[in-house]
Amino acid sequence: MTITREDFQIRAREFLEANAAPRSQPPVGWTERELVAECRRFHQALADAELGGITYPVEYGGLGLDKGYLEVFNRELSQFQAPLVPAAISHGMCLPVLNDFGTPEQRDRHQSRVIRCDEIWCQMFSEPGAGSDVASLATRAIRDGDQWVLNGQKVWTSGAQYCEYGLCVARTDPAQPKHRGLSMFIVDLSLPGVDIRPLRQISGSSHFNEVYLSDVRVGHDCLVGGEGNGWNVAVAMLMYERVAIGAGGSGAMSQAMGSAKLIKEARKRGRDRDPVVRDSIADLYIRERIQTFIGMRIRQAAASGKAPGPEGSIAKLNTAILSRRASDAAIELAGPAGQAWDAAAGDAAEWASAVISAPAMAIAGGTNEVQRNIIGERVLGLPKEPDPFKGQPWEEVPRS
Ligand SMILES: Cc1cc2nc3c(=O)[nH]c(=O)nc-3n(C[C@H](O)[C@H](O)[C@H](O)COP(=O)(O)OP(=O)(O)OC[C@H]3O[C@@H](n4cnc5c(N)ncnc54)[C@H](O)[C@@H]3O)c2cc1C
Repeated sequence: MTITREDFQIRAREFLEANAAPRSQPPVGWTERELVAECRRFHQALADAELGGITYPVEYGGLGLDKGYLEVFNRELSQFQAPLVPAAISHGMCLPVLNDFGTPEQRDRHQSRVIRCDEIWCQMFSEPGAGSDVASLATRAIRDGDQWVLNGQKVWTSGAQYCEYGLCVARTDPAQPKHRGLSMFIVDLSLPGVDIRPLRQISGSSHFNEVYLSDVRVGHDCLVGGEGNGWNVAVAMLMYERVAIGAGGSGAMSQAMGSAKLIKEARKRGRDRDPVVRDSIADLYIRERIQTFIGMRIRQAAASGKAPGPEGSIAKLNTAILSRRASDAAIELAGPAGQAWDAAAGDAAEWASAVISAPAMAIAGGTNEVQRNIIGERVLGLPKEPDPFKGQPWEEVPRS
C-alpha cells in the first residue's frame, strides 16, 4: 500500500471520529457480551477502512506498512476510547507470534481473521503448578499419527469464555530438561474435550478461567514453531506481553485513574490544597511521565526493527508500580466510596473497580518479583538464580 504518513493520519483521525468516543467522555458501561461484540465490530470496520493489521504483510490481511505508521495510528487512538480490551491478548501477543512463527498455511488460515477479530485468541500458559516458573508445566501432548492428543489443566486463561482459539504450550517430551521438550499448539476451543470454567474475581466479574483439556485432538498442522521449540515461542510471546502491558501508552490504570483525573476529584472534594494530596498526585504525575518516556523508547526501538528485549520488563514493572500508587492515591481521596458505592453515586463504581483491579497488574504477565529477576540478570548482569535441577529431565524433577 502506498500512502503518506500525513494521509494515513487523516484517514485514522476520520475513522476514529466516526467509530470511537473521545477520551474525555465518560466510559460506556457495556456488559462483557456487548463489549466483545463492539470490539469485533470495531476491528472489522478498521480492517474495512484499510487501517487494520498495519504492520502485517498484505498477503495475510495486513497493510504492509512500517512501524512508524503504527505509531501515527496509536497517537491518534490515544485521544479516543475504543473497545479494544477483549482483543488485547489476541492482537498484542498471539498475532505477532503467529506472524513470527506460524507456517504459511497457518498464517493463511488465521492471520487476517485474527486481525479482523473474526477470531479472538487467548494465551494458555499458566497452570496450577506452573505460573512464574511456566517452563515446569505439566500439560501433555502426545503424538498419534498426524494428530496430537492434549491432556492437562490451564488456569487464569483470560477471555477464554469468548475466544475461538488459544495458543497452548504443552509438554511433548518429558525426558528433556524443562525448557526443552515443550511445543506450542493452536487449539480450537470448540473442540470436544475442552472445558472452560470461569473463575469469579474480587470485582464480581469473571475475566479469566480454568481450562481443562481432556483427550483434545488437534492436527499436526496446529503445531506452531516446530516440535520441541515451544519455549522459544513462549518467551517471544511473553516479551510481546510485557511490551503490550508496559508500553501501550501510559498504562491502563493511569487512564482510568491518572493524575489528571485525581486533580479534578481533589478539586471537587475541596482537597486540592491539602499538602499530602498534592504530594501524592505530584509523585504520580512524575511517574506517569517516566512511564510515557519508557514506552516511547520501547516503541521507537520497535519501529526501527529491534525485537522486544528485557526493557519490556522495566516497562511492565513500572506500570504495575504506577497502578498501585494511583490506586493508593485514589482510595485516599475517594474514602469509603472506593470500596462500597451506591449505583447513583456517579463514577464511584468505576473508581472502586479500578482500585480493586490494581493488584492484578503486579501479577499478570509475570509478577513484579519475576520482572526484577529478569532486570537483574539481563540488564544489570547479576548472576542467574541457582537451579538445583538444571539440565535434569523434567520427569525426574520433584513437583508438588
Ligand atoms: C489479570 C491476570 C490475567 C492473567 N491472564 C493470563 C492468561 O491469559 N494466560 C495465562 O496463561 N496466564 C494468565 N495469568 C497468570 C499469570 O501469568 C500468573 O498468575 C503469574 O505468572 C504468576 O504465577 P502464579 O499465579 O502461579 O504465582 P506463583 O508463580 O506461584 O508465585 C507466587 C509468588 O511467589 C513469587 N515468586 C515465584 N517465583 C519467584 C522467584 N523465582 N523469585 C522471586 N519470587 C518468586 C511470585 O512473585 C509471587 O509473589 C494472568 C494473571 C492475572 C493476574
